[in-house]
Amino acid sequence: MQIIRTIQEMQSISKQWAIHGKNIAFVPTMGALHEGHLELMKEAKKNADVCIVSIFVNPMQFAPNEDFSKYPRPIEKDMELCISVGVDCLFLPEAFEIYPDGFSTTVVVSRITEPFEGSSRKTHFQGVTTIVAKLLFATNPNAMYMGQKDYQQVLVLQKMVKDLNIDVEIVMVPTKRDADGLALSSRNKYLSSQERITALQIRKALLKGKELIENGEKSSEVIENEMITVLNSINGLKIDYCSVANANTLEKIMTFNGKKSVVLLIAAFVGSTRLIDNEVVVVF
Ligand code: AMP
Repeated sequence: MQIIRTIQEMQSISKQWAIHGKNIAFVPTMGALHEGHLELMKEAKKNADVCIVSIFVNPMQFAPNEDFSKYPRPIEKDMELCISVGVDCLFLPEAFEIYPDGFSTTVVVSRITEPFEGSSRKTHFQGVTTIVAKLLFATNPNAMYMGQKDYQQVLVLQKMVKDLNIDVEIVMVPTKRDADGLALSSRNKYLSSQERITALQIRKALLKGKELIENGEKSSEVIENEMITVLNSINGLKIDYCSVANANTLEKIMTFNGKKSVVLLIAAFVGSTRLIDNEVVVVF
């Protein structure tokens, strides 16, 4: 596995690959890799000739009160994991490489960034879109692999590449979960064993919502209230949002008329750890 630290070197390697007709897949991450990240890499490897992974804890997507400085950075272990799934190239830029002195450009996607994560974390998505645009220009991939776990992020980036004519396919990979249903997340490391049990309520609430929809419930309000009841049935969990939305636009849905793809979205604090999860349901 090649380890690359500069944008210039990354661009020259990916250009060479493109010249030689290689299909390039790219997986952007912030490290602290787990099986969820590895799923993305395995899918990428399956469908491409070469796979580039980036690890960069992006300061621009964290608010001052968030966990940027304490975000886990087990780089040696991350490298081993990348090698174990056959990653060809690990892009490991430093912050000064990505944001040199005088850096003053931001990529902003409007509307779809406003609800949910965008409402709770005001500057989060402009940090995400700016870094991903930069990483795409550095790695020049045919496809970028992202997790459904961050559902809104995938939609935001699909909108960005469409609006900016960036020629890359964005592939959404299903959320990888522990056996008990908890979505894998680098932030699960912050949870105590009691909090880990509390966090399971998020999955239970999503499955409750899904069951109601599949049994014909037509009112989003009823579904949201039932999900909230599940979340509130346990101490130590504070809801940030719990909503039913159009799976393509993230617009609010009042009632279900006809076939629709909907997404149930939850963000909640378990202790001081903020967790998100979602479930997509196709309504007939
Ligand atoms: P992060 O390192 O948290 O920025 O995540 C990097 C990528 O991994 C994003 O596309 C995430 O959506 C994806 N990811 C994180 N957790 C999971 C998971 N449990 N299953 C699938 N993909 C995930």
